[in-house]
Amino acid sequence: MPIDATQPYDDQNIFAKILRGEIPSQRVYDDEFAIAFHDIAPQAPTHLLVIPKGAYVSWDDFAARGSDAEIAGFVRAVGTVARAAGLVEPGYRLLANVGQHGHQEVPHLHVHIFGGAPLGPMLA
Ligand code: IMP
Repeated sequence: MPIDATQPYDDQNIFAKILRGEIPSQRVYDDEFAIAFHDIAPQAPTHLLVIPKGAYVSWDDFAARGSDAEIAGFVRAVGTVARAAGLVEPGYRLLANVGQHGHQEVPHLHVHIFGGAPLGPMLA
């Protein structure tokens, strides 16, 4: 079920538990601001999720409340993860679903990285 992007942060959400190491993930990256791990139900040959270490529900919440350092660190982490996955050439796609119409299901900000095959003009 898609979430309400304006809801308060729930520290029992599944990505909060992954961040705390309470449930397993296939982690590929970890720095001061972000971690990245493989999506459990990949929709492309490479499908990674990058999440900030801070408690932010959505892109909207992060843009409103995140510090400049957190935002810069997160954006750099997304680029670093994609580069380390070997996706820069021939390219990849970033996606952040927000709220009901964006069909965001997990209430901790995450950016999807898709790659490893031609993805077509748009993912539905
Ligand atoms: P959303 O629709 O943008 O919120 O996407 C949530 C993503 O999280 C989906 O692609 C799910 O497959 C993925 N996901 C849900 N639970 C887990 C998990 O425990 N590990 C890794 N990925 C997960």
